[in-house]
Amino acid sequence: MSNESLIRRDLAVVWHPCTQMKDHETLPLIPIRRGEGVWLEDFEGNRYIDAVSSWWVNIFGHANPRINDRIKTQLDTLEHVILAGFSHEPEVELAERLVAASPDGLSRCFYADNGSAAVEVALKMSFHYWLNRGHGKKTRFINISNSYHGETLGALAVGDVDLYKKTYRPLLLEPITVPGPDCFHREPGVSWEQHTREMFRHMEVALAEHADETCAVILEPLVQCAGGMRMFHPVYLELLREACDRHNVHLIADEIAVGFGRTGTLFACEQAGPDGITPDFLCLSKGLTAGYLPLSVVLTTDDVYDAFYDDYENLTAFLHSHSYTGNPLACAAALATLDIFESDDVIAANRHKARLLGEAIAPLANHPHVGDVRQHGMIAAVEMVADKSARTPYPWQERRGLRVYRHALTRESLLRPLGNVVYFMPPYVITDDQIRHLARVAAEGIDIATST
Ligand SMILES: *Cc1c(COP(=O)(O)O)cnc(C)c1O
Repeated sequence: MSNESLIRRDLAVVWHPCTQMKDHETLPLIPIRRGEGVWLEDFEGNRYIDAVSSWWVNIFGHANPRINDRIKTQLDTLEHVILAGFSHEPEVELAERLVAASPDGLSRCFYADNGSAAVEVALKMSFHYWLNRGHGKKTRFINISNSYHGETLGALAVGDVDLYKKTYRPLLLEPITVPGPDCFHREPGVSWEQHTREMFRHMEVALAEHADETCAVILEPLVQCAGGMRMFHPVYLELLREACDRHNVHLIADEIAVGFGRTGTLFACEQAGPDGITPDFLCLSKGLTAGYLPLSVVLTTDDVYDAFYDDYENLTAFLHSHSYTGNPLACAAALATLDIFESDDVIAANRHKARLLGEAIAPLANHPHVGDVRQHGMIAAVEMVADKSARTPYPWQERRGLRVYRHALTRESLLRPLGNVVYFMPPYVITDDQIRHLARVAAEGIDIATST
């Protein structure tokens, strides 16, 4: 097998995700033969540092021996079994450990098999909870601007990124969309916390007006990843938890991307206030299996669980399922992931790496075409702008980020910008030297992308 022959075969039969396939007439598809640690390697021995963690899923590197071993052992024991009416050890142990590791009060795990499906579960469960409790008028959801929750119709509906959503609008539920706390839009001299607090007033107004018809508020805590790695201060979560309680509305925390250590704590919700907050629903996927196998889970409370628990004839059960719910191989990968978090003190080790990443990209703030450099833990972003003082974006048609991507490939790096936003979301096994290399490559790429 060679790069060329695999590309030819691929383009003859495959339709790739999130891709205008015509781009591949000029933009080479990159065939990957093997992965090891942060490295991806093609058939000719070219290597790339996976700075985007293969779409934000890989946290402990490719072909991690400890995760591999756990999956291999599980493979010889039980590959899959129906989870309705049946149980198996990996899914039970995983649920026990997730309940123990997640914010206090989350006591039940409902499994699904990808992030979007977890969001669908949380939306349906919240609506159904209120219905079972005699509040059938609650049928709507509140979301914040620039949010992203997945691509299936329910998840797409509660997102707010036009690029993915606009086309399908005639098919979608209509959420109540509130201007969010995105700190990119703060006035000069205003702190993240001030701006975040200020923007919360929109949420308070929406809740006061719509609580009677609203099941839940859904948001991505701290970082809106698909929305361009836009960030806000944790005080928003604290204010939101209090307001949702006061207005009798659920809070759905979509930690599919930010969970598992990305923002500096195991879950982003931990950073709110002195003791963190507990959402009514916590959606997890991506890092859950360290990027090995599709699995997602929605954690919820006794209160929610109890609202469904009744005699069958009353038809209050949550009759939702996916074929691969609680797959044992995926659960085994997740258990190995949690083992690594515990034995390697990953959160503490990441503090050093996050600081180094921040220092390495800080000089880019002075670049004439960089409007913002921002970071929450192991997610950092550099936003290119046409005009620095006004923070005017480059027209999207110019595809400046793609120029950074192309340059990075020539420098052994997989940086895949979101529009004008160059970001770093590397596996936690990245070394200090590799972090510095990525920062250099990004700086070169931004120079090239903004030079004409
Ligand atoms: C990726 C993502 C999803 C969707 O997960 P999939 O597994 O891709 O369906 C939902 N919410 C957030 C915040 C995500 O980043």
